[in-house]
Amino acid sequence: MTLSKDFSTVQAPGSGRSNPKLALAESGHSRFALGQQTAGQSPLGQQPQPIRLPGTDCMIKPQVPLTSLTSFKVGGPAEMYIAPRRLEDLQASFEWAQTHGLPITLLGAGSNLLISDRGIPGLVVCTRYLRYSHFDTETGQMTAAAGEPIARLAWQAAEHGLSGLEWAVGIPGTLGGAVVMNAGAHGLCTADILVDTHTLAIDGTLEVWHPDQLNYTYRSSKLQAHTSLAAAEAIRLVTQATLQLQPGGDPEDLVAATTQHLDRRRISQPYHLPSCGSVFRNPDSHKAGWLIEQTGLKGHSIGGAQIAQRHANFILNCGGATANDIFQLIHHIQHTVEQNWSLCLEPEVKMIGEFQLA
Ligand SMILES: Cc1cc2nc3c(=O)[nH]c(=O)nc-3n(C[C@H](O)[C@H](O)[C@H](O)COP(=O)(O)OP(=O)(O)OC[C@H]3O[C@@H](n4cnc5c(N)ncnc54)[C@H](O)[C@@H]3O)c2cc1C
Repeated sequence: MTLSKDFSTVQAPGSGRSNPKLALAESGHSRFALGQQTAGQSPLGQQPQPIRLPGTDCMIKPQVPLTSLTSFKVGGPAEMYIAPRRLEDLQASFEWAQTHGLPITLLGAGSNLLISDRGIPGLVVCTRYLRYSHFDTETGQMTAAAGEPIARLAWQAAEHGLSGLEWAVGIPGTLGGAVVMNAGAHGLCTADILVDTHTLAIDGTLEVWHPDQLNYTYRSSKLQAHTSLAAAEAIRLVTQATLQLQPGGDPEDLVAATTQHLDRRRISQPYHLPSCGSVFRNPDSHKAGWLIEQTGLKGHSIGGAQIAQRHANFILNCGGATANDIFQLIHHIQHTVEQNWSLCLEPEVKMIGEFQLA
């Protein structure tokens, strides 16, 4: 059985590599051999100095550790890293990566990612500083930048008397990540309320997408393919989104309802240790957590990674876990569930970089 891997890495034109899986497999012999570099050494020069992105006040930093930028708190460094605040800076980042033949990886809040211990080759573009939000209390529409935390938007919507986003309060991702992942909870999801979303392509083109163009299904969208394709021209970075909420609610009631949602989740899900939320998509027949629990895997661990007692579809970093521990545990769950139920659980978590089965 092979694990499905998602390489949310887009190849920049001119890099001469047509397949990202192959590119990563080749990395041991190329300039992208992160594991072979001297710590802190930039592949773009001998000095590991940050580089100013031409025409902007943004810095591109070499060898940035990603552990603190993901909810699992594991993984190696980004070969190069940038976190732009403005659209023009994003466009300049893409141009810079193309000029240097570097693949691009898109990072939101890192709450649905397992990043390889060997890190990510190329340029990691993080959206967390893309921030603005506007709430129209007449129409009920909320427009916000991709980097806004969706939980924060849920609280703000409630305070503005807008209902319909209470379910998002326990989701630790960005609005952009929610649009791409079709994040949801309690039977509701992003696609249900999305009016439109803006994306930026590698050539700087801006596009507006409506939900019916995005092939939305459970925790899936067409945009996921646009962050993990071999063809560079397919990259689409979500820059902003507009959601339709219901106006005219009582802020006090809505804040209370939002609090209730959060309390419910804290009881049923383990928030006390690093995780990525649900590791597997629920198959049609049963909940993934139930299947894993029935297989007797609750509490099973590999290294510092453990299947949560409170919710069997969560893997927890109990301290000192490596990305590889988590990867092996994911594979062990898939293998055991397949043996018992003849069902292959599909990971919801996106795996980026190089992993090897033991
Ligand atoms: C404790 C916990 C609870 C969770 N509960 C839920 C839940 O109830 N429901 C649920 O659906 N999810 C849940 N999640 C998973 C996660 O929070 C969601 O999938 C979230 O939407 C991911 O957003 P992010 O910004 O962290 O994206 P990331 O994890 O950074 O990225 C996820 C994918 O989206 C791509 N991406 C991110 N931002 C952009 C962008 N702006 N443009 C293009 N591509 C982008 C990345 O390349 C990657 O492929 C939970 C996670 C945790 C840790």
